[in-house]
Amino acid sequence: MPAYSWRCLACELANDAVHETCQKCACPANATYAQIAAAKKSAGIVDPVDGPTLSELVAAGWKNFVGKSDDRSILVNLIYENALGAAVVMVFFALVKAWELLGH
Ligand SMILES: [Zn+2]
Repeated sequence: MPAYSWRCLACELANDAVHETCQKCACPANATYAQIAAAKKSAGIVDPVDGPTLSELVAAGWKNFVGKSDDRSILVNLIYENALGAAVVMVFFALVKAWELLGH
């Protein structure tokens, strides 16, 4: 048995020295990488995955945008349509202002 209390490498539970395996996920105290992976899998523990960076998103979006126009990603469609909507609103207010400046 371990000489001291230990923290599980799979689920991070603190276990007392009397236990050879984790009391939560059964991962051994001195687990190999494969045993940690197996314990995580059986306990349903999913490691966080890094998402793409902003510049990667922009690059992917741009690549989609200049490529097949009817096959844009949802993100790019969202940005494109919001920008279009914002542009329409701005043109509308510019026309209203011009109308006012012309003395109406
Ligand atoms: Zn554990």
